[in-house]
Amino acid sequence: MIRYHAAWLIPIADEPIHNGWLTVDRGRIVALGRRAANDLTPGVELGDVAVLPGLVNAHTHLELSYLRDQITPSLSFTAWARQIIYERRRRPNPQDPAVTAGIDAAIAECVGCGTAVVGDISNTLAPFGKLANSPLAAVEFWEIIGFRIDNPDELIEHALGELAALPATDRVRASLAAHAPYSVAPLLFQAIRKAVSRMPFAACSVHLAENVEEVELLETGGGPWKALMKDIGSWNHEWTAPGVGPVQYLDEMGFLDNRLLAVHGVQMSGADLARLKKRGTTLVTCPRSNGHTGAGLPPIADFYESGVRVAIGTDSLASSPDLNVFAEVATLHALAPSVPSASLLASATIEGARALGFDADYGTIEPGKVARLLAVAVPPGTSDVEEYLVSGVHPGQIRWL
Ligand SMILES: [Zn+2]
Repeated sequence: MIRYHAAWLIPIADEPIHNGWLTVDRGRIVALGRRAANDLTPGVELGDVAVLPGLVNAHTHLELSYLRDQITPSLSFTAWARQIIYERRRRPNPQDPAVTAGIDAAIAECVGCGTAVVGDISNTLAPFGKLANSPLAAVEFWEIIGFRIDNPDELIEHALGELAALPATDRVRASLAAHAPYSVAPLLFQAIRKAVSRMPFAACSVHLAENVEEVELLETGGGPWKALMKDIGSWNHEWTAPGVGPVQYLDEMGFLDNRLLAVHGVQMSGADLARLKKRGTTLVTCPRSNGHTGAGLPPIADFYESGVRVAIGTDSLASSPDLNVFAEVATLHALAPSVPSASLLASATIEGARALGFDADYGTIEPGKVARLLAVAVPPGTSDVEEYLVSGVHPGQIRWL
């Protein structure tokens, strides 16, 4: 049993504890509390640090890490997407050394930034083995894309076979994700949902209400997405626009539930957020990516005021400057100073852990959970430690216990 003493403990499940103690045995948290002035029990003195649960990056694409600084910021999402499609077609092989080196560096960066759990989106499953050999816990989502598709059930059966062949562990699991309403046919959405509902602990993910072009396509059947899809040969001439927004579209299809991570939500209205809340769907926000891709800034304050569960992702290095969840949190804080710091810290920890199905082990400092804990250096005499933590932490301040 090891006992630690720290200026601050941030249990997330409870108020911050000043002058805290924490005991760990065989990798699990045993107990924690505040040190009384006359408590002389010896322990490892961590000093002026805040001890937190490892963070959760609920949405990233590790296999796109080789595109760091390669994609120009855009004023229109479809213009940004055209750059990605072009770059990915230049390197179709997931074993390309640039791609695999990018994944290795990205995993190291996640760990260095204090991340314990990731929700990773992949079209190749290339990161799976690397995640399994890393200290990260993860859900590896195999992302399904197909707007023009004849036999969705066959495609999903094949995907499930591939996932079943992966050496999944308690710490790294595999599931399915749908790409987005503009790139997945309705029958394919239904096949994905059916498959995920048969998995015992699986989460599912979709990019949802990210850009105005997506809303335009679903409401009118036309616009820049249709043009792009036609250009790349993916347009489905039999598809008819539902005439409603993306959230209502997926809800009426039965796709929104409490296993789903709905990513972005930049274009969500109050009614959309109410739908998500009713279904227990977790909204994952990635504001720095939204700024880069031309999607615009997400209505962060509205997200929190709606009562919907909010988790945080960095998105990929193709649209984000780094994989530092603390930096993403600081962006949320700058965009919505009215949102309590404690809520932002919960989004960066327990909300992501819950959405990914890892909340039994991660997301809070509580007896029984995995002791995957960070010590973040804080200035001596810090009084509002939560405010300090949501204002930006850089990797040099972080070490793992
Ligand atoms: Zn994404």
